[in-house]
Amino acid sequence: MSELLLPPELEREMAAVYAELARAYEVVASALGLSCSGCPDNCCDSWFFHYTYCEWAYLWQGLKQLDGATLAAIHARAEAYLGAAHKAEAAGQRPRLLCPLNEGGLCRLYRHRLLICRSHGVPATLAGPDGRMRRFPGCFRCQELVAGSFGEPAQAPAMERTVLFRRLALVEQRLLGPDRRSYPRLRLTIADMIVQGPPQRQ
Ligand code: SF4
Ligand code: SF4
Repeated sequence: MSELLLPPELEREMAAVYAELARAYEVVASALGLSCSGCPDNCCDSWFFHYTYCEWAYLWQGLKQLDGATLAAIHARAEAYLGAAHKAEAAGQRPRLLCPLNEGGLCRLYRHRLLICRSHGVPATLAGPDGRMRRFPGCFRCQELVAGSFGEPAQAPAMERTVLFRRLALVEQRLLGPDRRSYPRLRLTIADMIVQGPPQRQ
C-alpha cells in the first residue's frame, strides 16, 4: 500500500471550498453578532467524527509541516485521547476530551482543520439525499443570540452548506477514483487520524 496523497488541483479545490465556507460563515456570524471570543465553552472538546479521506489527507499535509518534536507531542496526546475515550465509552459515557491539536485554547493546525471545525457555530441549512432541507440551530451561544433577536429560529440567517458539502464530496470522489468502493467507510476522530498515520491507497 502507498500513501493516498492529494494532487495539487484537489488541494486547491479544498482550499477554495474552505475559503468560501469561511466567507459564508462570517456573513451569518456578523449578522448575528456571534464571536467565539470570550466564550465560556470550547468546542474543541466536542465528541465528533469525520468521514472523508480527502480531509484526512489534508490534515496530514499540515501535520507533515510540523517539526518532529511537535508532531511527537501531538501523537502522544492523540494516544492519550483515544485511551480516555475508550474508558469513557466503556463506562457508558459520551467522551468530552480536548482535541489533541488544541494547544492553549488554539488550534495548532488552523489552516488544515476539518470541515466540521470550520462550520460549527452559526445556524446552517443542508439538503439531505431526499432533497429535504434540514436546519441546524448553531451552538448554544448562537441560539441565545437568535432567541434574543428573532421570534422564530427559522427567521434567523443561516449558512447554506449544501453546495459546499457537494463540492467536497466531488473532491472525495476524484481522490478515490474508480476504485472508491474498495475503500472502507470512515468514521474517525481527529485522534484516530493522527494515530493511524496518513490515509493509504487500497
Ligand atoms: S462556536 Fe459557539 S460555543 Fe463554540 S466557542 Fe464559538 S461561540 Fe462558543
Ligand atoms: S482540529 Fe483544531 S479546530 Fe478542530 S477540534 Fe481540533 S483543535 Fe479544534
